[in-house]
Amino acid sequence: MRREIDLNEISDGRLYTSNDMVKIGCNDCAGCSECCRMVEDTILLDPYDIYQLEQVLKAEFEQLMAGYIELRVVDGLIQPHLKMRLEEGCVFLSGEGRCTIHDHRPGFCRMFPMGRIYQEQGFKYFLQVHECSYPNKTKVKLRKWLGIPALDTYEKYIREWHAFVQEQVESVENTENQEIIKKLNLYLLNQFYVNQYKIDEDFYPQFYERLEEAKPVTVLYR
Ligand code: SF4
Ligand code: SF4
Repeated sequence: MRREIDLNEISDGRLYTSNDMVKIGCNDCAGCSECCRMVEDTILLDPYDIYQLEQVLKAEFEQLMAGYIELRVVDGLIQPHLKMRLEEGCVFLSGEGRCTIHDHRPGFCRMFPMGRIYQEQGFKYFLQVHECSYPNKTKVKLRKWLGIPALDTYEKYIREWHAFVQEQVESVENTENQEIIKKLNLYLLNQFYVNQYKIDEDFYPQFYERLEEAKPVTVLYR
């Protein structure tokens, strides 16, 4: 089942773009790192996140599965997420409360405490007001907070990936044939995650090639 969220309960009621200023800065919090300990299995990883992890760890997907990520089913689709330890939180959190893959951390980590809400024309960001209790936040331009290279290209990719994933979620919701659901999931897992990305080449051309290949194939599973 897809999750319904009530923005009035969890946000300040505003929607933001990456060019907006938002009161989220916690630069003098000395790395309280609560946001890296309390997230359980919620940090889902998209193909760009996997590419980033493969780059920084110089590892293939199977090696990531051996220690850093796990799989779970979300909305009928198998998706990877960051592995969490019982007490210490994220596997990438150091004993000093620092992220050891800071420059390659996943998109969800970069956004925190912002979230994304998808609309017909793409998505906007919203501020999750109950997620970080740090009292002295400063205003920061969201684009700077995210710190993602070529952000416009990234946001376009996020829109297209999300639209594609939603189509697959609908396919799963519209069939009770478990064999088809299993085959679709295996195909998507291999096509977008397991098959190694070329880590010394740009991510986006690789992704779009896979996406164009996948579109006619996934139609067969409807
Ligand atoms: S965002 Fe909030 S929870 Fe995370 S390190 Fe900063 S102050 Fe701590
Ligand atoms: S990847 Fe880094 S920022 Fe993200 S939860 Fe783990 S330690 Fe925190």
